[in-house]
Amino acid sequence: MMSRETEPSLLGKSILQSTFSDGHCFRPEFDISVIKEKTVIENAAEPERNPENEKRLIEMQTFLLAYLTAKMESNTAKFKAEAEARILQEMEEEEVLHNEVQEKKRQYLLMEKERLVNELLDLQIAALTPVADAAKEFTKDYKSFATAVDTTRHELPVKNFYIDGDRREFLDKAEACLKESEALLAECTEGDHKDNSTSLECLRDMKMTSKEISHQLSGTFSELLELSSLFLLVFLVWVSEIMLQQTQVATVIDYYNKWMKRWPTVQGLAAATLEEVNQMWAGLGYYSRGKRLHEGAQKVVSELKGHMPHTVDSLLKQLPGVGRYTAAAIGSIALGQVTGAVDGNVIRVLCRLRAIGADSTSPAVTETLWSLANTLVDPERPGDFNQAMMELGARVCTPKGPLCSQCPVQSHCHSYRKVHVKQEENTRKLLGKLDKKTSILPDIEDCVNSGTCLLCPSEPWDDELGVQNFPRKPAKKPPRVERTLTCVVIRPGEEGEDEYLLTQRPNKGLLAGLWEFPSLLQEEKSSEMKQKRALCAVISRILGTNLTESLLQYVGEVVHIFSHIHQTYVVHSVCLKGSDTQTQTENAQWLTRSALQEAAVSTGVKKVIMFIHCVSHSQRRDAPAAAGQGHWRQRGKAQAREAEEDGRREQPGKETVPRGTCQTMCPARELRDREAQNRLHRFEMLAGTERDRQPRGDPLRAVKEYSRPAAGKDSTNPTDLRPPATLLKTVYGFVFDRLRGVKQDMIIQRVTGLDCVAILERMVRFLIYASYRLCGEPLRLYDPRINDTHLQENLSWLLDCYATGTGLHPNQEEFQALGLLYNLGSARATQHIMELPEWLRSSPAITLALSINRAFLERNPVRLLRLAQRLNFLQCCALHRHLVACRRDLLLIYSHGYSSRNCRFPLDRLARLLSLDLSLTARLCQTYGVEVNQDNHVVFSKAAFTEPEQGELHCNLYHNLVAEEKRDLAVENIIHGCA
Ligand code: SF4
Repeated sequence: MMSRETEPSLLGKSILQSTFSDGHCFRPEFDISVIKEKTVIENAAEPERNPENEKRLIEMQTFLLAYLTAKMESNTAKFKAEAEARILQEMEEEEVLHNEVQEKKRQYLLMEKERLVNELLDLQIAALTPVADAAKEFTKDYKSFATAVDTTRHELPVKNFYIDGDRREFLDKAEACLKESEALLAECTEGDHKDNSTSLECLRDMKMTSKEISHQLSGTFSELLELSSLFLLVFLVWVSEIMLQQTQVATVIDYYNKWMKRWPTVQGLAAATLEEVNQMWAGLGYYSRGKRLHEGAQKVVSELKGHMPHTVDSLLKQLPGVGRYTAAAIGSIALGQVTGAVDGNVIRVLCRLRAIGADSTSPAVTETLWSLANTLVDPERPGDFNQAMMELGARVCTPKGPLCSQCPVQSHCHSYRKVHVKQEENTRKLLGKLDKKTSILPDIEDCVNSGTCLLCPSEPWDDELGVQNFPRKPAKKPPRVERTLTCVVIRPGEEGEDEYLLTQRPNKGLLAGLWEFPSLLQEEKSSEMKQKRALCAVISRILGTNLTESLLQYVGEVVHIFSHIHQTYVVHSVCLKGSDTQTQTENAQWLTRSALQEAAVSTGVKKVIMFIHCVSHSQRRDAPAAAGQGHWRQRGKAQAREAEEDGRREQPGKETVPRGTCQTMCPARELRDREAQNRLHRFEMLAGTERDRQPRGDPLRAVKEYSRPAAGKDSTNPTDLRPPATLLKTVYGFVFDRLRGVKQDMIIQRVTGLDCVAILERMVRFLIYASYRLCGEPLRLYDPRINDTHLQENLSWLLDCYATGTGLHPNQEEFQALGLLYNLGSARATQHIMELPEWLRSSPAITLALSINRAFLERNPVRLLRLAQRLNFLQCCALHRHLVACRRDLLLIYSHGYSSRNCRFPLDRLARLLSLDLSLTARLCQTYGVEVNQDNHVVFSKAAFTEPEQGELHCNLYHNLVAEEKRDLAVENIIHGCA
């Protein structure tokens, strides 16, 4: 290798030389010094600038650069290959060295281990040496000992066994060690055992406790389950009992199902708002019941931690709205507590069973009834017993027409026995066989304390009433009469639908928390204008505007009867122009008509809505076509006044149509006259004056009489004429005699349109009901022929109104069907129905009526009677007059069809076909000469069938098609279409 000192200067000699690595420099393959020198010389001489030379120079330099580049690349490749070879070599060497190192390391470790082992061995040897010595010694000793034992064992007794001093010492030491170990071991074992047993005991205890807890837990869990299902049952019975207070089952069912769907648990109900509860309750009446139910649920959840009271006492004390009967009913039905439950039905049954004739609401009778119920109740199944008693009262021992012949407790019934005794006495009297001992049955009224007995009747027995003499009730207080000024405020809604202003009633009192139109109870002394002003002030306060009474337009009156109030809503309306009128007070809101139907509003308010709707339709229709937008509430003030004064104004050139102004059902003049002439009906007399020499008339109950217009008598005096609204009111309480008066007033005033339809509908309902209810009454009380004429006239007038009117008639389907059912088989009635538009003719009620009509025409009584089962109450009333003929046809057909000597037809099957009970079926068969044998089989014979004599068949005896529970519906409900 050449050192830098000895190496010629690279630049000085212009030699290119590799400087890659130490010791590897070598000369280039050719020498370029010539070029270098030449270039230097040329620069030194600074020759003249010659482009040729410069070009050559550049070419030379380019060439030189290319050469150098090629050379460098070649060298680089060489160097690279060489370097790679060297690296590989180095790596191989490194591996060899590494292996060597590893080997050496292993050897070193082995040596180290060996050294350690040796050290250990040395230590062991050092440690074992004394032992070995001792062992040698011991072996030696043992050998001697064994030899000695062996030689002397047969010679020396064991007790002389001897070991010399050192051995003994050894053995002693060993024995001592062993003993010590044994003691230690014993101690340890003993300690362990003790701990173990304690632990085991603890474990056992824990196991037992856990078993007990799990047992208790499963018990508690099943108890909890039982308890929660019990609570649920209590809740269900509670809700149903509260709903059923004052309300019939048929009405409640829908409400109950909806309620349970929404609030299936007491917690759910507690979480609801009163508004929601009222909304759900709307239409069920007695709204405080829903409110109390809600309060009760909240109390159960918050105060009783979700635990329903589960005794009769706690139910009574802790649940608001739960009285003695409800608590007893829940207690017996849901909790199986042995207690009687006395409701209206049970009162009737018990009063009749025990012939309790005193006022059934008096404390003495009430206590007696409860004590009787508690004595009678079945201790095994108190709930079933109580429900059975109620059912007995509802279905058999009904208020009117009790079915004594089917009664399961007839043999225990004192009332029934009393009737029987009386009938026996009457028979004997008639036969002249009455002697002193008329009957072996004692007279149940022979009470030893007669005169002072608190349960004995205060009024004499009425033979005509029979068992219905009981229970006796105190005279009903007449309902309070109220008039309420109400204003329907309307604004155009944003979505095109009108909106109505509603305010919420106070949280206490009648209809608590419900929504109503702004209203004000009318005071007798205050003038109407003053009251309207007061109502305007109320509305102005709600809306933050200034409303004057002149804007209020009178619309009409709507009557709604609560149990204790006879309420008349005097309806006004006002229409606001702007849709942005906002309410300024709490408890007021705007609702659309559809929202109103869903809101928590009373039935009275719904009636007002319906009334407004009907009037608006009527006025829109009656408005002159030229007016275009003849909406009722867009009439001007002058127009309204004109309408009010219509009755007094005559229009030149036009026929005078009088308009009545009489606001009561009976004009004041007529009432005064009839008072003076003592011509008041008992029901028209003012309470308390009935026994006076000259009773006074009650303006709220007296009804205008029909009177033939006499010559010279002014029958068109407006004060004697009742306008449609008053006529409508009159229909509520009318009697047949007065209907003609109503009709007369309507004809004189040319009442048309919706007013006319509304009155006629009620009249037709009433007359149909009368045809059923009074059927069989003596002619002096009821003449079916006159009733029929009157009914047919009203019906055809009503159907004409439907045909010619343009408004909506929501009850049309009902009356078209009633018309056909009442006139079954009539070609005119059938043709009328067939001419109805398809949508109306295919409605369910008319379709059913048509099917029945077809069965009637085809003389298929079986089908007719089967279809008739689907009719509602009023439809049954309309049909009932055809039933006699229909049943006759059935018996005649069967008498021909089954006329065979050996053929026997089961009586019960025939009873089902005729929709009658067994006794009535047998009686009907007898009337037609059809034989019923001892085995309750009917023997049909073609020859035996005979037509009954005139008057032998009483239609009213065979009214069974009409639902029993509907027989006693209030006339008011029937004529309003609620039956
Ligand atoms: Fe009622 Fe007649 Fe029965 Fe007596 S027998 S409980 S009155 S249904």
